[in-house]
Amino acid sequence: MSGIYIHIPFCKSKCTYCDFASYPKEVSKKEAYFACLYREIEGRGIQCRGKTFDTVYIGGGTPSFVPAKFITGALKQIRKCFTLSENPEITVEINPGTLDREKAEAYFDAGINRFSIGLQTGYDEQLKRLNRIHTAKDFLLCCNLLKGRNISADILIGLADQTAEQVKKTIDLALAGGVSHISVYALTPEPGTPIYTDYLNGALPSDDETADLYDAAANYLKEKGFYRYEVSNFAKKGFESRHNLNYWRRGEYIGAGVSASSFMDGRRFTNTYNIDEYMNAVIVNKFPEISSEKIEGDDAEFEFIMLGLRTFEGISAKKFSELFGHDFFEKYKSQIAKKSAFLDINGDNVRIKDKYLYVQNDIILEFMR
Ligand code: SF4
Repeated sequence: MSGIYIHIPFCKSKCTYCDFASYPKEVSKKEAYFACLYREIEGRGIQCRGKTFDTVYIGGGTPSFVPAKFITGALKQIRKCFTLSENPEITVEINPGTLDREKAEAYFDAGINRFSIGLQTGYDEQLKRLNRIHTAKDFLLCCNLLKGRNISADILIGLADQTAEQVKKTIDLALAGGVSHISVYALTPEPGTPIYTDYLNGALPSDDETADLYDAAANYLKEKGFYRYEVSNFAKKGFESRHNLNYWRRGEYIGAGVSASSFMDGRRFTNTYNIDEYMNAVIVNKFPEISSEKIEGDDAEFEFIMLGLRTFEGISAKKFSELFGHDFFEKYKSQIAKKSAFLDINGDNVRIKDKYLYVQNDIILEFMR
């Protein structure tokens, strides 16, 4: 399996916790940006000749903020320059308040079949504090435009004064919108973002409080028929994100656009985060990469283990030996013995027990030693 990621770095305004490559003040550059993006897609298509791709993910930023023609144009260019499998999963990220019927229809016509909506919380005062551009009602209006489609919602845990009851009510709102997939992320206040000041002032829940809120979300989602197929991701059976599963299985992916990362032929490379630098490079037919690293040996093995153990499906020792040429159980004998209480081992399959997924970092780090 392989995926394509396209980055749209425009948003209406900046959320207080946002550390992504999104530049509300640069929206006037969108025509030029998309012209360059289409050009990069062409170059990446040549680079990936002979490979077939199963998923496309258009993320950002807020892809739904720009006119639909830019997004459908990107998809047209992808179809022209890449070989897609017969039934690709094509996702677009949407912010409530930026979708209308016309845009939704354009997305459907272009073959987009999965919609990932940033809900974050069902409480308007919390949305306002995060500088989100929408209300809880906007989320439902947005879902209504996507009725009957494959919808996912993002929810944030660890907001100021957030209670377990609010987390559950937020999940109820997502369910009322008809979602079949929910990503639950714990807020990580990064230095330089406005919310970091709240963090320094002690206005955000402690790590333990956030872990409790997370548990409340995980238990409630289980009650509602969602299973946790990755540390932060919950889905009804059959609605897992194929695009993200490919990342966790250490599959190949190619990215285009500002800040996009790729993993291809054992090399991981990342584009510049700066829009002007990006366009200047693409205009002269250069890939706008700022870093590139061949991942091999122990690093590749550890990546395979780290990514796989984040998921419900875990890792296959058979696949490990096919990829790396030696026996997983033999090489990691002492680590497995040390962490055996946390692991489920069935034949060649190794996974972290459900109830210990929240301490996965400690378990995974053991395999680095
Ligand atoms: S909508 Fe998303 S990408 Fe845009 S500013 Fe908010 S968090 Fe960042």
